[in-house]
Amino acid sequence: MAVNSAELIEIINLIAHDIQKNRDFLTELDSAIGDADHGINMSKGFKAVTEKISTMADKDCGSILKTVGMTLVSTVGGASGPLYGTAFMRAGQAVGDKQQLGFEDIPILLDAALEGIKMRGKAVKGEKTIIDALEPAVEVLKSSPMDIKLMNAAVKAAKDGVEYTKGIIAKKGRASYLGERSLGHQDPGATSCYIMLSSTYKAILDRNN
Ligand code: ADP
Ligand code: MG
Repeated sequence: MAVNSAELIEIINLIAHDIQKNRDFLTELDSAIGDADHGINMSKGFKAVTEKISTMADKDCGSILKTVGMTLVSTVGGASGPLYGTAFMRAGQAVGDKQQLGFEDIPILLDAALEGIKMRGKAVKGEKTIIDALEPAVEVLKSSPMDIKLMNAAVKAAKDGVEYTKGIIAKKGRASYLGERSLGHQDPGATSCYIMLSSTYKAILDRNN
């Protein structure tokens, strides 16, 4: 796999498309344990991202990812904006000025994204957040040499992580105000994280076939 800047922009546009498609679903999840805006926040942020990166095909991959991050920070009002924004900015720093990305870059950039979210949000696994989907995926990606099958396994781990959020009490973010009443509900942020990983996997799979 080799993804150049134009192809990276296509992958990010696919993520934006899938976020848009799941806008109402994410908002519905957030209405049960938050303030009913996660889908609205994410779709607003990624709409701005799509516009911003449309002219960046001649820029390096790190600059594109950093622009995604800065755009999310500046356009998303909710907690998810700074968290995902930091994730993309850290991913951009990790790949630097590369003009193309390979399979081996995926664990590096997702690990940097995870560390960014942890640094910004101070959450650990088991607190019903984005981390519950992202960390298991990164653990899989770091477990053996990178290929498309490992990427598929990582996406499955993220999906299991989303399921896991249903059985735990929220300890971070708005949902934590609910305490035990957050039990039984799927976390919106873990869900949007799974959607983004799944979109990325699909985009890479399509390119490899
Ligand atoms: P807000 O809670 O400000 O309305 P959103 O609704 O857009 O923001 O995002 C809510 C999601 O943010 C939650 O479902 C959770 O996954 C995630 N989240 C909240 N706080 C944290 C944190 N400290 N670390 C990681 N993720 C978090
Ligand atoms: Mg919300």
